[in-house]
Amino acid sequence: MKAYQEKGLKTYQLYINGEWCPSSSSKTFERKNPATGDLVAEFQKASKEDAQSAILAAREAFDQGDWSSMSGAERSDLLYRAYLRIVEKTNELAELLSREMGKPLSEAKGEIGAVANIFSYYAGLSRAIYGQTTTQIQKDLLGLTLRVPVGVVAIITPWNFPLGTLTQKLPAALAAGCTVVCKPASTTPATTLEIVKILDEVGFPKGVVNVITGSGEELGREIATNPMVDKVTLTGSTETGKDLMKLSADTLKKLGMELGGKSPNIVFADANMEDALDGALFGSFFNQGEVCTSGSRLLVQDDIYDEFVDRLVARAEAIRVGDPLSDDTEMGALISESHLKTVLGYVEKGLADGAKLLTGGKRLTDGIFEKGLFMEPTIFGDVKPNMTIAQEEIFGPVLSVIRFKDFDEAMEIANDTCFGLAGAVWTKDIDKAIRATQKIKAGTIWVNHYMEAHPELPFGGVKESGYGKELGTAGLDAFSEVKTVQIHVGSRNNFYKW
Ligand code: NAP
Repeated sequence: MKAYQEKGLKTYQLYINGEWCPSSSSKTFERKNPATGDLVAEFQKASKEDAQSAILAAREAFDQGDWSSMSGAERSDLLYRAYLRIVEKTNELAELLSREMGKPLSEAKGEIGAVANIFSYYAGLSRAIYGQTTTQIQKDLLGLTLRVPVGVVAIITPWNFPLGTLTQKLPAALAAGCTVVCKPASTTPATTLEIVKILDEVGFPKGVVNVITGSGEELGREIATNPMVDKVTLTGSTETGKDLMKLSADTLKKLGMELGGKSPNIVFADANMEDALDGALFGSFFNQGEVCTSGSRLLVQDDIYDEFVDRLVARAEAIRVGDPLSDDTEMGALISESHLKTVLGYVEKGLADGAKLLTGGKRLTDGIFEKGLFMEPTIFGDVKPNMTIAQEEIFGPVLSVIRFKDFDEAMEIANDTCFGLAGAVWTKDIDKAIRATQKIKAGTIWVNHYMEAHPELPFGGVKESGYGKELGTAGLDAFSEVKTVQIHVGSRNNFYKW
């Protein structure tokens, strides 16, 4: 750690029970910028014992009751102060996010803006937690439902939107009165630790938020099996979700699962072509295509297929891939060497299966790309729905274009997947649009736009994309339980006859 500090590099510690502390194993790991290979920071490799300490801190903080019984207004005040600090630190956070993850700075700023917005939204909602009442069951009974916090929540997050995915869970959990242990992805922990620094600065009580960094497999096992954890909420791959479900079965934990996707983006012949082209490009290449809701299956109707695809390819070839910190850059670096290899492996599979490579397909290695993990925006045409590149989540800048004849065929192809995270339709025919929203099996459907999200609207998948909702009031409800209270009014007059 000393060597890092001498070189002016950042070193981060674990945050447990309101204290910054080293790992009990003294092990560390580092992160290099995927665009340049430069070191970003050094982190603590938390041990199983560190995970236990963080969980215990969250348990004690919850059970003491100071946080969960604090008024909604007081919790709101702290969340709002965090919001203000995040806004103040937007540029600093965005630069760090871009350096640790590889996304363009402009997109990183957008992510921080969204994060601040969600903090402000849940700051408001923490003052609006209500149950229900009824006097309509019988005349001498008052029935109440109370919303009580779930308890200790473990939040496990991925690297593609390290802060976006954290913030779809953390402020809602805190607003509901839960205490939290966060486990960010090992490739992108720095920004999560910076957010927690902010929470520490603005005065969140000790033990309410804790962060451990290190191996997901090792720490995940402790989190999933530790009886002091009440709920685990994961954003990650479907495979990790299935592992966590199995591990957490013995303690019957509540689970929230935001998993993978292979979303259909459907362009009908009567769509506004300019808008649909824009949406198709954004849906495929935003964040280097490393997006769970990526519109990676583009379904285009026969009548416009050739023109649409020609224009799409021309526009994709004009995308500026480059230094993520440059204002001009539209697509940055992929997250890791191994992930880039996996994505390039899918290009090979597409070719082997007979799909037509229309553009891209290669790693970029010359000039500024020499030390980084860059790839050309890639489009395959004539993709058949059963090909590997149309079925598996690639999680990179690779788009599969599929031709369809009519509405029924489009719906059949759209639903021919184990995933159900999102989907979109582009058409000027309102009846067709509504019928499509009813037919497509997915958690979110966009009509005539793509991949927009708002704190007020719930988000979450179906099928193997997971379950549970984040954002909106549903995202707050996910961190509380309904407790029923029945109050009898007056004497029971020997009703039980005992
Ligand atoms: P991942 O490999 O599943 O990792 C996600 C998180 O889980 C990381 O913190 C990881 O830690 C941890 N982890 C890994 N193995 C674990 C285990 N056995 N038990 C518990 N935790 C474990 O996913 P990723 O590669 O980071 O992210 C990409 C995936 O996330 C894609 O499938 C994408 O679709 C999905 N995603 C979904 C959404 C959504 O909202 N539905 C949003 C974004 C991303 P380490 O980093 O230390 O391995």
